[in-house]
Amino acid sequence: MAELKDVKGIGPKSLSLLNKIGINTIEDLVTHYPFRYDVLQRDDLSKVADGEKIVIDGKIESIPVLMRFKAGLNKMNFRLVTSSGIVGVSIFNRAFLKSKLLVGTDVIVIGKLDKSKNVITASDIKLDVLSNKVKIEPIYHCTSGLTNKNISTYINMALLMYGREIADYIPLEYQEKYNFVNKRTALNIIHNPSTVEKIKEVTIRLKYEELFQFMFKINYLKQQNKKEKNGLVRSIDRKKLEEFVKKLPFALTMDQKNAIEEIIGDLESSHRMNRLLQGDVGSGKTIVAFITMYLNYLCGYQSALMAPTEILVNQHYSNLVGFLKEFNINVALLTGSTSKKEKNEIYKGLQDGTIQMVVGTHALIQDEVVYHNLGLVITDEQHRFGVHQRANLQNKGIKPDVLYMSATPIPRTYALTIFGDMDVSTIKERPKGRQKIDTVVKKTTEITEVLEMMYKELKKGHQIYVIAPLIEESENSDLTTVNELKEQMKLAFKEKYRIDIVHGKMASGAKDLIMEQFKNNEVQILISTTVVEVGVDVPNATVMVIFDADRFGLSTLHQLRGRVGRGSSKSQCILISDSDTKRLKIMEVEDDGFAISEEDFKLRGHGDLFGTKQSGDMAFKIASIKNDYKILLQAKKDSKKYLEDKETDSDLLKKDLIQSIMKID
Ligand code: ADP
Ligand code: MG
Repeated sequence: MAELKDVKGIGPKSLSLLNKIGINTIEDLVTHYPFRYDVLQRDDLSKVADGEKIVIDGKIESIPVLMRFKAGLNKMNFRLVTSSGIVGVSIFNRAFLKSKLLVGTDVIVIGKLDKSKNVITASDIKLDVLSNKVKIEPIYHCTSGLTNKNISTYINMALLMYGREIADYIPLEYQEKYNFVNKRTALNIIHNPSTVEKIKEVTIRLKYEELFQFMFKINYLKQQNKKEKNGLVRSIDRKKLEEFVKKLPFALTMDQKNAIEEIIGDLESSHRMNRLLQGDVGSGKTIVAFITMYLNYLCGYQSALMAPTEILVNQHYSNLVGFLKEFNINVALLTGSTSKKEKNEIYKGLQDGTIQMVVGTHALIQDEVVYHNLGLVITDEQHRFGVHQRANLQNKGIKPDVLYMSATPIPRTYALTIFGDMDVSTIKERPKGRQKIDTVVKKTTEITEVLEMMYKELKKGHQIYVIAPLIEESENSDLTTVNELKEQMKLAFKEKYRIDIVHGKMASGAKDLIMEQFKNNEVQILISTTVVEVGVDVPNATVMVIFDADRFGLSTLHQLRGRVGRGSSKSQCILISDSDTKRLKIMEVEDDGFAISEEDFKLRGHGDLFGTKQSGDMAFKIASIKNDYKILLQAKKDSKKYLEDKETDSDLLKKDLIQSIMKID
């Protein structure tokens, strides 16, 4: 297939801008779907009330009169003949349009109608008039230097040049069954719709395709896992387990014990473990993971624990070493900051078996790492398919058991579908002595009160997380708001407290540094976009302030809230929002992550269980598991049948689908 740079019009500069917003291939480009449409339905003069918005087309009847004011301001007036009468048009500060607004030109005028004066005060004038009554304009996520128009042009050029080559993942029999148009047509329509009905129609088709692919993957992996009887068979030393548990500084909860039992079942059977351990933030999953590593060690195998960021890796490492200190186990730490020399030593130790446990990032299961006998991989949240599928892991032919930890509680019915290829252990019960986090919803007008609450905590020597308002369209303006917020907070709290910022566009080293400073209380207020590292433990942070809280799903809010309340002091969460307060009030009373995620599913709106930072596989481009659950169930059924009916060798599409699974890391 051709590359992005082969599309006519895309030069090196636009290429790098496209890459910046995650578009790297032609397929990425043509599936960069509009996040909304502007629908310009043309009005009749007589049907629009005084002071209301109007969109009307007509012919310019008089030469526009241009008036210039001080400070470079200007205004233009002209008369417009429409099918429902003549109307005056005024527009401010568009002197540059004058040469285009000739008598006899067809335009669309968008503005506000003043009935008594029979004048439209226009906010926009469009020169491209279509023959039909509705003009629908797709609106894309852009970035500075790359306009909506650019993106639309590139997409259409790509469709024109390579539309035929774009993979279509719906088998013909289902295209026919549901009367779907083919992929190319669907893409053409979604990017250039003529009616709202058409958008709806092809949206369903594109969602179905995405969900079909996803469910095919799940069903395929499930089928493969079932076939595999080549897992390690271990015999667990119960006595040593008991001794270990007795020495813990706390008693395990019932749910933790059950999870451990389920895991032992896997370790002892010839099936490969492929288990998801889910539980609320702070429910105590990590110790279950550590115990699993200890059991695996007792059986003579190596363990790898992976986390997505350096700071989490460090945290896990120091906790693990703490729990295991009396056992004389060789635990290695491998991160981006590990020196080359150390790295080589670790690689050597992993290969000859002198290192029994290693904590690090995804790099731990890359091809160049050779294990002596890796029996267990535990991973935090991400990369859910990659690990299990990594057939070429250099590991003496052993296929390690895999345990995934997730802090996103998912209602059981959904979990069964989405994690259909895995076994699931759930920790619901919270460790004793956990404090409830006081949660309040505040309006933006009540900001002074919020600042006072913050100040009180700062005076007690505590620290604060602030989640900055979110801005959808441009990452640059996003940063502006974060910086503005920092200035405001500085004004409010003077120089007494150090305030710093982390955001998604920062290099990870710089981000980790600030997180580290926050951990060490060198920074008291940490302002961030939603990237606050999942799972970071700062017990001294007692306040979480979330601006524009209505933009987040309840589950995300719950996760964010879980960053505080980790020490012995009472903690608070302040949700700032001027809308949707009824939904947000659920957070004031509800404390159980599972109940909250159920609510999230029930309510419509911005719920995002599979929010931005979750595993890549969940990041659908057009479908949403929550809103399109019915389509998902149908896709599940169809893909299962398709998988079972078709011979792989003779079915090209099936081959493609399987290949697309293998590519995932
Ligand atoms: P999770 O990984 O599920 O977010 P953690 O494993 O980090 O939660 O646990 C949070 C804290 O609770 C840790 O400090 C851990 O040592 C502690 N903890 C775990 N299990 C228990 C328990 N049964 N009783 C009391 N404290 C516990
Ligand atoms: Mg096993």
